[in-house]
Amino acid sequence: MIIHLKRGVDESGLNDLIQSLHAVKVTINEEVVLVAPASLKALPDELEKLTDRYYVMESDIQLASASYHPGRNILMADSEVGRGLSNTAVITGPCSVESKKQIVASAKLVKELGLSILRAGSYKPRTSPYSFQGLGKKGLELLDEMRATYGVKIITEVRDATHVDEVIAVADIIQVGAKAMYDHGILRKCGKTTKPVLIKRGFGTTLQEFVQAAEFVLSGGNSNVLLCERGIRTFETKTRFTLDLCGAAWLKANTNLPVVLDPSHAIGFRYGVPDLALACMAMGVEGLLIEVHPRPDHAMSDAAQQLSHEQFRQLFLQLTNLAKALNRNIF
Ligand code: PEP
Ligand code: MN
Repeated sequence: MIIHLKRGVDESGLNDLIQSLHAVKVTINEEVVLVAPASLKALPDELEKLTDRYYVMESDIQLASASYHPGRNILMADSEVGRGLSNTAVITGPCSVESKKQIVASAKLVKELGLSILRAGSYKPRTSPYSFQGLGKKGLELLDEMRATYGVKIITEVRDATHVDEVIAVADIIQVGAKAMYDHGILRKCGKTTKPVLIKRGFGTTLQEFVQAAEFVLSGGNSNVLLCERGIRTFETKTRFTLDLCGAAWLKANTNLPVVLDPSHAIGFRYGVPDLALACMAMGVEGLLIEVHPRPDHAMSDAAQQLSHEQFRQLFLQLTNLAKALNRNIF
């Protein structure tokens, strides 16, 4: 249940009740809001006089639910994304920051195409401890430099709680990866910033669990959350993962958060990325995340799936034409 208290009401005596309800108190637009488990179906007597309005919720998808809020708009770079808007953020860059030369080439590509957001990981969550783990702090410094030199916004990921503050300080948009989305320490820290947070769905995560991860950030006080579908594990082994477009449709219909699709990590092979990216754009999602690399075959992570800059230029032309036909703006 989501309970909006009357403005200016004295809630100082409510701590015991909040605790006994297992509710979370959050301030939204200067209103004090209590979010109690969805199993609570009737307003407690003690709250009747203090409550402005309340919402009985079906499940613990609460603050993110379309039945609570029709659609949140989130400022990304200089444009907003949201369900009622026809904007799609095309987010691109290499899987990892590898060197100054490489990331400068990526930043220049973003600028050349009139895009706004450069994406690259510096703390990489790898499946093997023996593969490249990212440049860490040095990579964040390079990304900071790219923002200063090229005026691009930076999205980069948090791998674990050891560097969450560092990433939050540098990033314009914080990415919480598919493996990190269960880390409540990271999610709670992301709830304490106002920067947009893009949460990637774990490959074995149900939609309910995925959106509940977003609830940790929302109930922490940060309403700027984006949901990114990046492929789930199915019985199929020919492709790396399976892009769950049904799931994306469900998220669009049932949540109020912008939906971003990542065809690169889903298929895992560059041959399929353009087709999937166009399908994603045709769905009318709020964001696309596509990995590119100046020399894809030499990439230090996710080499098989990254598009060359030339391949991306071609895809971008098609995306632009499709967006025009759909009356969507790309930025
Ligand atoms: C990435 O975005 O480069 C990445 C590691 O993705 P995921 O967390 O979806 O595996
Ligand atoms: Mn990657």
